[in-house]
Amino acid sequence: MNIMYWHWTERIADQLIKLGKSTIVITAGVTPSGPVHLGTVCEFLFPEAIYRMVKIKNPNIDVKMYFILDVLDALDSITIDLKEYEEDLNKNIGRPLEIVKDPKGEYVSYADRYIAELQNIMNAFETNFKLIKVSELYRMGAYDKYTILYMDNLEKVKNIISETSNRELSKDWSPIMAICENCGRIDNTVITEFNNGIYKYKCKSCGYIGENSIEKHMYKLQWRLHWPTWQAILNTDIEGGGVDHFTKGGSRDTAERIHRELLGREPPIGYKYGFVLLDGKKYSKSKGIGMYVRDMIKLVPPEIIAYHLLKYDLEENIDFNPTKEKILNMIDDYENASKIDNQELSRADRKRYVAFKLFGKNRNSFKEMLLYYSIYKDWNKVQNHIKIEDYYKTYIENWFKIDFIPDDYNFSYRPVKIDKHRELVISWTEDMDAIQIHNSIYDYAKSNGYLPAEVFKYFYNHLIGKDKGPRLGKLIYALGVERVKKDLL
Ligand SMILES: [Zn+2]
Repeated sequence: MNIMYWHWTERIADQLIKLGKSTIVITAGVTPSGPVHLGTVCEFLFPEAIYRMVKIKNPNIDVKMYFILDVLDALDSITIDLKEYEEDLNKNIGRPLEIVKDPKGEYVSYADRYIAELQNIMNAFETNFKLIKVSELYRMGAYDKYTILYMDNLEKVKNIISETSNRELSKDWSPIMAICENCGRIDNTVITEFNNGIYKYKCKSCGYIGENSIEKHMYKLQWRLHWPTWQAILNTDIEGGGVDHFTKGGSRDTAERIHRELLGREPPIGYKYGFVLLDGKKYSKSKGIGMYVRDMIKLVPPEIIAYHLLKYDLEENIDFNPTKEKILNMIDDYENASKIDNQELSRADRKRYVAFKLFGKNRNSFKEMLLYYSIYKDWNKVQNHIKIEDYYKTYIENWFKIDFIPDDYNFSYRPVKIDKHRELVISWTEDMDAIQIHNSIYDYAKSNGYLPAEVFKYFYNHLIGKDKGPRLGKLIYALGVERVKKDLL
């Protein structure tokens, strides 16, 4: 039977549950080489969404979540974040991120700086992941037997990689990427001999010739082996990745064959996701395109970001650009999704419904609070009119602090006496709500032969000295009908 799923997480959760295991392991990972951008958020958010859906469908299944930090990756470029330290950092190119010192001296290493940032952001999104530095897996010896297996089956490994990646491997290619004990680089060493767990290597950067043992853990495996190996060590049931890994000839193709032909296990379930784009461009941590997530979560509540990354199909590219002009529509969409009734939904609404169910929180309206705060600029006065949601207070204050206020909400109340439309204003009464006030203006314009837009503009001008603003009925309601009447007439 072909079940129609509302959201991709439901399909994947069912696939996992069908494995019939009492414990499910979800893994994911990143290289902590720069500030977190929205692409990085997807790396933990999508598996987190799968976790939550499995738990919704079957709370009794134990789900373990491991997030691998690839701290043995070489430093290959300097993020604009640390441009002022470029000269020093350039001397560290090619060294594992874990042994490069943090240039500001605030953390032990370059990797630790970005792991701390990532951890903060993952906490803000309330993920259930346990973070693991991949070097810890090496140091505890978890990789040892696999490395020896690959070295003992070198020709087979080389064939698989060559066939799946569609490229010839060089003659001196080896599964092992040794860390040079003289210069610390991992990106430019070759293995010249291997015997009984002992390897000899030559560093092409400094010329050093050395010898080391697998047991000393001064190496990492090539990515195409490193990845399936952590999946075998952690007993991964599912791990996704961006399209670059899952394309034909990508590392997923290699991993599948390594699992089956060398590790004697079925590969974990895979899934691939699209890119997060900013006005059609790919976010990039090194080029600094787009706002960093550490700044974004001070302006946009994480659950709203999560909702907007999850309301699409998994493989769709997501255009996400929370500018101050777009942000209100995004919040609107999120707040409307909280009110979707789960009956008789369109396809897009079903996805929005599930995305909200996974990450959304039922709170009072953000927009409402923003409107009142824009008018009064004082929470003590705002609380006389509406219930304040403490959680949103900080965000709204931050909007004002850095001038992130959408144009329509950037105003001050400065009333000017009116010289027409008096009978409309006189008709307003204290017991009217925002919609009734809005409709009264519209009806008045229609029945008196005015263009509604002209009348609206007239009142914006006389209330806030601008041509546009928040919804007029809401604005007048929030200001208070009696007060507006007194000030305009
Ligand atoms: Zn060297």
